[in-house]
Amino acid sequence: MASENPVLFGIKDAQVESVPTQYDNILSGSPIWIKNPTKESQLCDLCGRPMVFLMQIYCPFPGSVANRKLFILFCPDHCGESEGGWKIIRQTEPEVDLSSALKVKDIATTDWNNDDDEWGDDDADDWGVSEKVQEMKISEQKTDFENIVETKQQSFYINVIEDYKEDLSYENELLRKYESEEMEISSSGGAKEGQNGISFGDESDEEETVEDKCVSEFIDCCRRIPSQILRYQISGRPLSLDSNQYSQGKLIPQCSICGAQRIFELQLMPHLAEICPILKSFGTVQIYTCSANCGSSSEEYYVLQREPDASRFK
Ligand SMILES: [Zn+2]
Ligand SMILES: [Zn+2]
Repeated sequence: MASENPVLFGIKDAQVESVPTQYDNILSGSPIWIKNPTKESQLCDLCGRPMVFLMQIYCPFPGSVANRKLFILFCPDHCGESEGGWKIIRQTEPEVDLSSALKVKDIATTDWNNDDDEWGDDDADDWGVSEKVQEMKISEQKTDFENIVETKQQSFYINVIEDYKEDLSYENELLRKYESEEMEISSSGGAKEGQNGISFGDESDEEETVEDKCVSEFIDCCRRIPSQILRYQISGRPLSLDSNQYSQGKLIPQCSICGAQRIFELQLMPHLAEICPILKSFGTVQIYTCSANCGSSSEEYYVLQREPDASRFK
């Protein structure tokens, strides 16, 4: 199971010294857009100011070889602390018919590491792209483009590691362990608020139990790989800091372009706020993207959750 659709973690890596490629996962720095975004999409919806570019993730859609990237922006003002102060821009290159290209070239071994600037290079017809598409790309590049999103000089690669432990058996084992511990505490009559280190707020015991499981799973993930800044599993399951997230019937809205259901793709983890001083602290930002991977550029949906208690993630 783990190998089919593993959970991947992003970890801050070395500083970017030269110009990164389209295919690098980068924290901070400047975005390398697939398609130039509109001015509006770089402005905060709440206060109208330019947003700060936080990271770009190169993440081809399963079953597709088209370039696909997610760009994450946030408002450096207080908006970034609330819903509406972030933007997730998904950009996907148009799908091309690769059946003819495959006969000519072995894509897997040559093209992904190509350092050439594919956009400006007239003879870089690596994909067997029709001339029409190629022309489209070039003319797109010529149109006036204003990169107004705020960028930082220093940027870092994001290294991707696989979590071999995170399969269902492990989660189940944790859950069982947790439940038995909890039963022990309650049967000994010693369960008082705060004593087991997980309860908070004034909810009833019943609510606490659900919330504790939810939060403890999240905290366990943070502790297992403390340096993770993001957790990735397309079509997977997000970890949540809000036990009511699913029970309250708050659904993830469908894709605003094609109407397809959105699926979970990745979430930003609290360690990111620790290493990016400009970020206000948050618990997690869950990111949901179009399951049909439609269009060429669209804003995707996210859920921002606050952290219940920062010290507990360490
Ligand atoms: Zn703002
Ligand atoms: Zn869509």
